[in-house]
Amino acid sequence: KIFLVSTAVAFIAVKWRPSHFDPESLRGARVLVTGASTGIGEQMAYHYARFGAQIVITARREKVLQQVVEKCLSLGAQKALYIAGDMATESDPDKVVEFSLEKLGGLDYLVLNHIGPTPLSMWKGDIEYARWLMKVVHVWSYESGTSKGSLVIVSSLLGKVPGPFTAPYSATKCALNGFFGSLQHELAMKNSNVSVSICTLGLIDTEGAMTAIKLVGIVTNLPASPASEAALNIIKTGATRQAELYYPWKIFIMTLTKDWSSTQSHYNLLRTVPTPYLILL
Ligand code: NDP
Repeated sequence: KIFLVSTAVAFIAVKWRPSHFDPESLRGARVLVTGASTGIGEQMAYHYARFGAQIVITARREKVLQQVVEKCLSLGAQKALYIAGDMATESDPDKVVEFSLEKLGGLDYLVLNHIGPTPLSMWKGDIEYARWLMKVVHVWSYESGTSKGSLVIVSSLLGKVPGPFTAPYSATKCALNGFFGSLQHELAMKNSNVSVSICTLGLIDTEGAMTAIKLVGIVTNLPASPASEAALNIIKTGATRQAELYYPWKIFIMTLTKDWSSTQSHYNLLRTVPTPYLILL
């Protein structure tokens, strides 16, 4: 019964909530997407391009960024520029934002999507790696100083329901959720024009995620959702200034039911009551 009720609540809350996405609202919009050389970020760049936005993309690999920019221009971007940068350094995040503000004359959307390489493994106490990863996704708090525009945060189910093999990764996503979740409230209290959209994703079929799963030997029946569709959903969530996205919507059920399990372990939850989850997912 609990499962059916939570499924119904999740479906209504996430799938049927009203959203009035107008693709025209993105024509000429000034957008910065981080981690856009591959995966979901790359797909977001292509969608923004199709909508006629002005885009700056960033990641570390310059050559790959160059190719993505060329494709964005061919897809219809009003402007497409790149700047290579390493988000784990002190200076590059500032450099990237300054470049975008200068080249685009402001920013309407800042999409924080990047993540450093995150191999899946048991926690072996490598605190340096955990520190480094935290630094990579450093929450860019100074961005809260903007007076309008939209912050779009790409987060993960693992930031809401921690699982095994992902301690540093889960920590970064929990940090993002905590920081920007709090910021959402403060901005609302101030009647601010800045919107914050936190996008919680399930497993997505990017090369990085698929390789990580294979390497650790995780046998999962959970299907991976397409990166291009995930990217489009994130963009729509930002454009309609919604506070949250759950993609695919079914993962919302996991966030609702995570504390109802006899064990706190998500891994065990999936093993002990696999059927309803697996049917849905
Ligand atoms: P990818 O590994 O495909 O892409 C990560 C991007 O981040 C790349 O563009 C990479 O480019 C860039 N990057 C890596 N390290 C740095 C760094 N130090 N500084 C700047 N950029 C860096 O990831 P996904 O597309 O799979 O994931 C995108 C987002 O979606 C992430 O936030 C991830 O946590 C989230 N997510 C993904 C899920 C999935 O199953 N794929 C599930 C849930 C959430 P480069 O190497 O050129 O620097």
